[in-house]
Amino acid sequence: MIDQFGRTIEYLRLSVTERCTLRCAYCRADEGVCPKKEELTTDEFLRIARACACLGIRKVRVTGGEPLLRRDILAIVSGLAAIPGIAEVNMTTNAQMLQGQAQALKQAGLRRINISLDSLDADTFREMTGGDLAAVLAGIDEAIAAGLTPVRINAVLVRGKNDREVDNFIALTKDRPVDVRFIELMPIGSLGQDDSLRVGSDELLAARPYLKPVPPLQAGQVSTDYAIHGHLGRVGFISPVSHKFCAACNRIRVMSDGTLRPCLGNNLEIPLKEYLSGDDNSLTGAIRDAIYRKPVGHHFEEGFISLKNMNEIGG
Ligand code: SAM
Repeated sequence: MIDQFGRTIEYLRLSVTERCTLRCAYCRADEGVCPKKEELTTDEFLRIARACACLGIRKVRVTGGEPLLRRDILAIVSGLAAIPGIAEVNMTTNAQMLQGQAQALKQAGLRRINISLDSLDADTFREMTGGDLAAVLAGIDEAIAAGLTPVRINAVLVRGKNDREVDNFIALTKDRPVDVRFIELMPIGSLGQDDSLRVGSDELLAARPYLKPVPPLQAGQVSTDYAIHGHLGRVGFISPVSHKFCAACNRIRVMSDGTLRPCLGNNLEIPLKEYLSGDDNSLTGAIRDAIYRKPVGHHFEEGFISLKNMNEIGG
């Protein structure tokens, strides 16, 4: 459907949990295991997704928190993939638990997978995320073997932590069906409020003239893509702060408790849970209103403070 600013909204990011196996400093506020808050059931997520599909949503990305923490993740994926009108179901994961699951996810109907990986050095990775690098690398291999390709590796660059690894990440694109994307640190969560930690795409590109711009693979994609002669994969930059792309934004988010957030960088939220006890018309009507009211854009450049961290919103 078209929002009040004429944008076609066709992409739903569905956060199925805010719990996570990692504790990335820029993402979560708390140090320990996230407490289990109220989460919708499989059927409730699917009901919301069906209503979204009636309004023109064509693509769903399952995210979180860590989506693989949901024991019913295969049922969620297969249920989403079976909804008439939904052409594509993808997932964003930290891949800590992907080993042994990639093939089943593919069979459930998952099309592609994005894997968050902030460092190729085991010590830096542990320091930044608390996670195990070997598990992620094994997960990437499994995802490739399962045909969830091209596997996208997303790295959030934090100056002084992992920005010296940019060329090592780019090297991953050489002979495997792997795309690497560098995500600008966003001012959501406490670390992202420090502008000096952000590494913009302009400086990365200026230092790498061998990166040649290529057209986007998909309409509405948020990365600007580059190719390197002789490499199988692409290199992308997602730069919501230095190169705002709100005018082309085609997405909404639904959080794990059923709250719809039309814009990542705006605290406007519409709880859908109350509509789940009513009929389909009122649920669809609430989503339609929310989409229509999607804000014109984020205000990251004006000191926006998000009331939620990324693991809660669904990154
Ligand atoms: N647990 C899954 C994962 O790690 O991919 C999915 C959820 S995670 C919140 C999704 C993405 O959001 C990750 O790539 C993470 O690095 C990114 N992210 C979280 N906080 C961010 C921030 N402040 N700025 C930029 N990206 C952020």
